[in-house]
Amino acid sequence: MFLNFHTHFSNHNEFEILNIDVENNLSQSYFSIAYHPKDADKFCDFNSEISSKKCLAIGECGIDKNIDIAIEIQEKVFIEHVILSEKFELPLIIHCVKAWNEILAIKTKLNPKQKWILHGFRKTPILPSVLENNVLIGIGPAILFDEKLILALMSIPVNQILLETDDNEKVDIMEIYMKVAQIKNISLQQLELQIEENFIRTFKKWRNG
Ligand SMILES: [Zn+2]
Repeated sequence: MFLNFHTHFSNHNEFEILNIDVENNLSQSYFSIAYHPKDADKFCDFNSEISSKKCLAIGECGIDKNIDIAIEIQEKVFIEHVILSEKFELPLIIHCVKAWNEILAIKTKLNPKQKWILHGFRKTPILPSVLENNVLIGIGPAILFDEKLILALMSIPVNQILLETDDNEKVDIMEIYMKVAQIKNISLQQLELQIEENFIRTFKKWRNG
């Protein structure tokens, strides 16, 4: 089975986690929910949405230095999401653009128990720090073309990754599985089993709701 932990386009099956904004919470599928950093200034309580049996994670939330929202607001709202992740015992899916130091500082300060996943991983220089801090790595469509990422993936343990199509509607999750299996030099079946194990370990409400 091909598990897609982060997509913006639903295929209406149980093998994906649809990412939705708090203001658009009509998902029939399993979902993750949050205020994206671009909407950080709109943040308000969304406990009832998180309580849904279908809500498997908080996210994507985080810090993005390429957008216009003040970094102080983004940090404050990200901390709110960390608190929700801890309160509801759900993993956190993180959007990080040029802000790993800030995100790591918050992690160090709050010492959260829930799993964190850095989605759409691209910034290979931060890889050692991400692994050291026990943050899972979301591998998305960039793995199909990004040579630096391909090289970096060679040194990422397969039990530390999850796979995603993110906001790319043209890429099938199976293509990402095939590419990753090739890079890691393992069979597609081996990869499927390992990712399934990672997925179940991370998204504990999957198939239990
Ligand atoms: Zn996304």
